[in-house]
Amino acid sequence: MTLSFDQLDGWIWMNGKMVEWKNAETHVLSHGLHYGGSVFEGIRIYNGQIFKLKEHMERLIASGDMIGMPLTQSLDDLCHAVKETVAKNNLTDGYIRPMAWRGAEELGIGATQCSTQVIVAAWPWDKYFTTTNGITLCTSKWKKPAPDTAVTAAKTGALYVVNTMAKHEAIHNGYSDALMMDYRGYVAEISAANLFMVKDGVLHTPIPDCFLNGITRLTVIDLAQSAEIEVVERRIMPEELIQADEIFVTGTLAEVTPVVKIDETDFEVGGVTKQLITLYEKETGQV
Ligand code: PMP
Repeated sequence: MTLSFDQLDGWIWMNGKMVEWKNAETHVLSHGLHYGGSVFEGIRIYNGQIFKLKEHMERLIASGDMIGMPLTQSLDDLCHAVKETVAKNNLTDGYIRPMAWRGAEELGIGATQCSTQVIVAAWPWDKYFTTTNGITLCTSKWKKPAPDTAVTAAKTGALYVVNTMAKHEAIHNGYSDALMMDYRGYVAEISAANLFMVKDGVLHTPIPDCFLNGITRLTVIDLAQSAEIEVVERRIMPEELIQADEIFVTGTLAEVTPVVKIDETDFEVGGVTKQLITLYEKETGQV
């Protein structure tokens, strides 16, 4: 049986200090734990190089601001904390999880007096999806909310309650992950990655106006354009996906992963997807 995350060995950066992994604790009456007031990042390190560190930490700070929970550390301090954590844990390849949450100073809904607590943890994590060819997606009953209904541009824990339910629904139905539409019925993303489709050699991807504009998504768009692959950001209807030549998803954990099935429709892993997987591996220093 694999050990639970609170039982691993190592060091966690916690509010400016290195704390032994098993002692990195917070109180059960923390505001963030009760009401979902947390923000986080997921970063990968390849061959000792932290990929897009600054972009991730800028997004962490922006997410905190968006939920009214400003972080007290500067961008430089936070980037330094990540590097320190990686070094202390002797990590050259793996995953880094910075996270901030509201402290226990108040427990009513208002949190104006709450401190902002911050940690950085890091550990080895190879592939997110362990299926060999690609992943299967099941259309979820859960939708992405409108940007005036939820803080959709923030990477906040509160929003992930629905993503976890969508993922559970997919697993229950025998699929790898959940394909989520937005509140208007357009294609949005999967539970923790953005989505692309290829049609007649052109890359199409939904406009990220009510879900995360992923750092991997932006990297893949750049890589595609440099390789002279046309990229179109537009609204995509679910029935268009079924007509696609290729489909793949992008994310820090997911990297570039082909989709081989959506509901009852099978897809091939095509040439454009394979080309972008190779380009992404080169860009991240994996090959
Ligand atoms: N959407 C969601 C909901 C995610 O959790 C992630 C992973 N952070 C992404 C998209 C992809 O974002 P990124 O490429 O920045 O990791």
